[in-house]
Amino acid sequence: MTEMPLSPHSASPDTANPDTAKIAANLASVRQKIRAATAQAGRPSDSVQLVAVSKFHPATEIQAALEAGQRIFGENRVQEASAKFPELRTHWPDLKLHLIGGLQTNKAVEACRIADMIESLDRPALVKALEKAAQKTGRLPELLVQVNTGDEPQKYGVRLEEADFFIESCQKTFGEKLKGLMAIPPAAQDPTPHFRTLAELARKHGLTTLSMGMSADYPTAIAQGATLVRVGTAIFGARS
Ligand SMILES: *Cc1c(COP(=O)(O)O)cnc(C)c1O
Repeated sequence: MTEMPLSPHSASPDTANPDTAKIAANLASVRQKIRAATAQAGRPSDSVQLVAVSKFHPATEIQAALEAGQRIFGENRVQEASAKFPELRTHWPDLKLHLIGGLQTNKAVEACRIADMIESLDRPALVKALEKAAQKTGRLPELLVQVNTGDEPQKYGVRLEEADFFIESCQKTFGEKLKGLMAIPPAAQDPTPHFRTLAELARKHGLTTLSMGMSADYPTAIAQGATLVRVGTAIFGARS
């Protein structure tokens, strides 16, 4: 990968870095597919937002996406996000960072400092830790409850049978900061029933943000009501 200076006004033209052109083309193609799926579903054209998942990709590639107009990014690990995003934010103050990976309670303070949204709220211990962290930092990101719709033991997310109770307790604790739900369907299954389950659960609790769909299935997720799609590989290529 070619090194680029971390500045939107870089001296070298964007096309000097092959990653830049590739990422811009990939983004254009993903946006086009989002537009098509949104129209096909009869939904308003601005009802779906793209979260570009940049985990394992360097700041120079994130910069290429920013230059191509992308503003919302997703990262799994607090430490990696902290290493890349504060510097990028100084050049693009309107960028938004979503934390989308399982979150350890000892990372809650740093998460509150750097994130605009945490999509992986999934257990009472994390609720407590975020409450405390918000007091300490004076900042609370927007929140989504992650639901383990496939009840997979190895996966993050609140179990389906506990979801109603947990969502209600999060609404009591965080009020309007709780925006909606997130899910990652089991890899080897048709994702549609999982997307439907998540959409029904959100409706039941009066929540409007639905984060579902990744590179392999975001058009399907949009058909089922996704308002945020989290796309990594289709934008940045394979992760090493
Ligand atoms: C890595 C990741 C993604 C992006 O997956 P792709 O298949 O690369 O699009 C989306 N959501 C979560 C929670 C992830 O960890």
